[in-house]
Amino acid sequence: MSSRIVKIFDTTLRDGEQSPGASLNIEEKIAIAKQLEKLGVDVIEAGFAAASPGDFEAINAIAKIIKNSTIASLARAVKQDIEKGLEAIKPAPRKRLHTFIATSPIHVEKKLKMSYEAVLDAAVDAVKFARNGCEEVEFSAEDATRSNWDYLCKVVESVINAGASVVNLPDTVGYTTPQEYYELITYIKNKVPNIDKAEVSVHCHNDLGMAVANSLSAVLAGADQVECTINGIGERAGNASLEEIVMAIKVRNDIYKASTNINTKEIYRTSRLVSKLTGIDIQRNKAIVGKNAFAHEAGIHQDGVIKEKSTYEIMKPEDVGIDSSSLVLGKHSGKHGLEKRLVELGYQLTKEQLEDIFEKFKVLADKKKEVYDEDLHALVEDKIKFSPSVYEIVSLQVSSGTNITPTATIKLSKNGEIFEDAALGDGPVDAVYKALERITFVKGQLKFYEIKSITESREALGEATVKVYFPDIDKNIIGRGVATDVIEASAKAYLDAINKALMYIT
Ligand SMILES: [Zn+2]
Repeated sequence: MSSRIVKIFDTTLRDGEQSPGASLNIEEKIAIAKQLEKLGVDVIEAGFAAASPGDFEAINAIAKIIKNSTIASLARAVKQDIEKGLEAIKPAPRKRLHTFIATSPIHVEKKLKMSYEAVLDAAVDAVKFARNGCEEVEFSAEDATRSNWDYLCKVVESVINAGASVVNLPDTVGYTTPQEYYELITYIKNKVPNIDKAEVSVHCHNDLGMAVANSLSAVLAGADQVECTINGIGERAGNASLEEIVMAIKVRNDIYKASTNINTKEIYRTSRLVSKLTGIDIQRNKAIVGKNAFAHEAGIHQDGVIKEKSTYEIMKPEDVGIDSSSLVLGKHSGKHGLEKRLVELGYQLTKEQLEDIFEKFKVLADKKKEVYDEDLHALVEDKIKFSPSVYEIVSLQVSSGTNITPTATIKLSKNGEIFEDAALGDGPVDAVYKALERITFVKGQLKFYEIKSITESREALGEATVKVYFPDIDKNIIGRGVATDVIEASAKAYLDAINKALMYIT
């Protein structure tokens, strides 16, 4: 065991949120930040303060809540951006301003249209300016991997002299290879005379599928910090995946001779939360957190695992927080048993929430006999909403068939008041959505719709996810709903999106 700690800088809320399709509201960002703190990440990059008032507000709110992780805001190397960033992170007990400018010929000449001297000056000025408002300043040389190495050395040396304590060398376009990146990090470490005054950070994109490999190669070359995201989400093909980097460093400690501050048992829960809230699914065969990551299908493998787990398992599901105990609850399980299991799964619920979940659990147990952890996760996640439930479904009736026009009749409640309406549609789900729009007066365009069963049985809970574009607020919003009836789940998902949209309208 070595004592060298590789710091984990999570950028799920900044780079990850730039994923096509992901868009989180402030409550959802706070929920993710809290979970990242529990996971033990060293730095949470909470957003890009100057990008929008919403981004600023979210960073500021997170800065007020999070105590153990450093809160960072990204800022271009311009004064107004840095001022906004400094203001947003101000309340945080630990804070970092992260500023950047591109250093590669293509970016400097074609995008910035600046001279190399001007870029160098801008970088130094930005770091100095940021240092006036924040002790800890990170500088990123955007597109570092396509930059001239000697120019890069000059920039790095200068920003360290200006007061940067972390220097990031991103592979912005996912172009480098493990060997080349190793050489680049080594070059910087050898050639920059004051490099020992700063931490070296890496940030890799996955365009060629090498983000994790490149990051790990940099760790071998002595990188102090890795920037990554949960489930590897991010611009285009995404960022390096946090869970893969952390587990590789842990499982292959013999190679990396380092460790991280991550509580790996929180990995699975964090992964689920991010997937739910962003609406970005995790592929089944995804390393570490995919549904199949610990499933053994081949007979020979199953036989081996039964005899001795380590025959085919290099890590235990429990290590990443997947409970492999096949504990199943049924309709005879009492409230106490349910509560105990929920606590084991990491949920702390109020009495009222527990009461409500117990009622839903009984209905479900009646229908499907065996209730698995996956079902419990779904019930709880359906209950803990990150938006106020403005409207709630009281009742829902749908008639459809081969020779009739689908009709939906819906009753909703809002602050105790009941609203009812009906609508026809091209299909039962369409009829439901039209009825919901008639009652709430919120018009949306369905961009994405998915229904899946949570466990594998006919009576399983169905989980609906929708992405709806609301022209009035010019936003895409993700909605989710869970129920044993697929139409009801679909209705809940659409109403969830409408309720979130109403936060912007009212
Ligand atoms: Zn990036």
